[in-house]
Amino acid sequence: MPMVSMRQLLDEASKGGYGVGAFNVNNMEQIQAIMEAARETRSPVIIQVSRGARKYSQDRFLFHLMLAAVELYPEIPVALHQDHGNSPETCRSAIDMGFTSVMMDGSLLADGKTPATYEYNVQVTREVVELAHARGVSVEGELGVLGGIEDGHGAGVDAMAHLTDPDQAVDFVEKTGIDALAVAIGTSHGAYKFTRKPDGAVLAMERIVEIHKRLPSTHLVMHGSSSVPKELQDIVNQYGGQIKPTWGVPVEEIQLGIRNGVRKINVDTDNRLAMTGAIRKVFADNPAEFDPRTYLKPARDAMKEVVKARMIAFGQAGHAADYEPLPLEEMAKRYQTEAVVG
Ligand SMILES: [Zn+2]
Repeated sequence: MPMVSMRQLLDEASKGGYGVGAFNVNNMEQIQAIMEAARETRSPVIIQVSRGARKYSQDRFLFHLMLAAVELYPEIPVALHQDHGNSPETCRSAIDMGFTSVMMDGSLLADGKTPATYEYNVQVTREVVELAHARGVSVEGELGVLGGIEDGHGAGVDAMAHLTDPDQAVDFVEKTGIDALAVAIGTSHGAYKFTRKPDGAVLAMERIVEIHKRLPSTHLVMHGSSSVPKELQDIVNQYGGQIKPTWGVPVEEIQLGIRNGVRKINVDTDNRLAMTGAIRKVFADNPAEFDPRTYLKPARDAMKEVVKARMIAFGQAGHAADYEPLPLEEMAKRYQTEAVVG
């Protein structure tokens, strides 16, 4: 199966009333973990690559690993997505390589740090929509500013300081024509999201409900949505790690979001913790080991288990065979006739 447009994948998720996990990758083992989890649960999936990951891997390595993934797992619909594109140029280079979806994060300036004006955000996002839709590629925009910093990206602001305004969201979607909207509702990137189990004071789920009411056909995206389960923190710490006590976004809150228009859920930290815990355990149990396979294999298995659990919780499990992928050329035609807009 060729890579699928994210728009098609999320339209199908909307019809089926489920969410789709978007998992970040930097290397072969992470791609394998996700594809195995998708096969075992029969899930469509979004694999996403940050600018940091493209730099780390020299992105052509990752792209060719993705070609191997779709060749070896032909039954799985996969969208390849640029996470947090900082400029139209970054998005253009991803599209030229063959990504089927890009995020233009115009909530920040191109430095990936400074909060941008609303006008700037509209302008760069519209520019990316025009160039992407002409080639059938989907676009995610962001309104409001997320908390935290990951891979050098983020304003480092308090997560509750710049929540997405529902009125502005309506205007933003009208002016830009995006397929999916990342909303700021109090979540942060990285492991340290909340210092206690989050409640309504730190996680503004009612914003999602409100935005979905106003924009029923725009797919909403939750960033920074690892659950950071205590079991994963404990394994890291049991074998010499020093993760400070922290709370992520509970799976029940994500499921509430999914009932209210959330279709894409970004998860990275949980997978990082799972891999790190597994590697630390091998090193602690067998200090004489030095074959990388002896620790990368358990790391890959640990990540696969986390991804499987999320696929089941988000509801995407069992939906891989629901539809045939539309070629990007067909998506481009539909955008032209506005059949997928609105
Ligand atoms: Zn993000």
